[in-house]
Amino acid sequence: MGNKVNDFHDLLEQLAPGMVALVGVPWDENSSFMAGSAQAPARIREALYAGSSNLCSETGVDLGQEPRFRDLGDLKFGGDAVLIQIEEVLDSLLERGASVLAIGGDHAITYPIIRAYSKKFNTLNILHLDAHPDLYEEYEGNRLSNACPFARIMEENLAARLVQVGIRTLNPHQRDQGQRFGVEIVEMQDFHTELSFGLKGPVYLSLDMDVLDPAYAPGVSHHEPGGLSTREVLKLIQSLRAPLVGADVVEYNPDRDPLGITATVASKFLKEVAACMLRFE
Ligand code: MN
Ligand code: MN
Repeated sequence: MGNKVNDFHDLLEQLAPGMVALVGVPWDENSSFMAGSAQAPARIREALYAGSSNLCSETGVDLGQEPRFRDLGDLKFGGDAVLIQIEEVLDSLLERGASVLAIGGDHAITYPIIRAYSKKFNTLNILHLDAHPDLYEEYEGNRLSNACPFARIMEENLAARLVQVGIRTLNPHQRDQGQRFGVEIVEMQDFHTELSFGLKGPVYLSLDMDVLDPAYAPGVSHHEPGGLSTREVLKLIQSLRAPLVGADVVEYNPDRDPLGITATVASKFLKEVAACMLRFE
């Protein structure tokens, strides 16, 4: 697919309130450790549309037959200030009344996405699944690093609640940041499947693939053992009861996924997340 930002106007015309727009955001220049996630949207789409599976969620939604589900292809960026371009595209998608399911790219893309969402939803509750809290004030001099998006989001009061689940890399600085911003952190060491996060009102899901144990998803830049299973993440998605108004799936790195296994996991998550978003429209 691959549509320039400028060509987006035609695609925007197709969107109406209640639709879910799948959008690739192939951008990894804020990755703190290794690049590669810019190739993720193409690889995940291959897995999504491969003949080895179908487009049905486990919850019974067939995305192949669902007219409210639109795959808009990938954003293409011109020049610098890419994060601003992401925010502008999101603004126009949300203006059409669509919900956006973004495929990263690294986790830095979540900050401009949430900036756009916060203009539409003044009580946005973020459920953030990740091995890392991504709360650094700055990382190696970069305040827009993929280690920092949730510090920026909380500084600007863009979310009513930030609930982080699966975290297993806290250091003293990020613990301080979590307290300072009132982040509700469910560390992996305390996680169990019966936990309820009491999420009400509009929810945005930010799903970093490294929340999974690397045994389930080796195709990520940061291998962090001791994480969630694929089934546990599916269960978290399927048990959401509050309206899911937007989501991203980020940090898949095809360079570390020679067999394409992690791509199929990301594609399965996309199907369940899209189905969950459609349920509330
Ligand atoms: Mn992250
Ligand atoms: Mn992470």
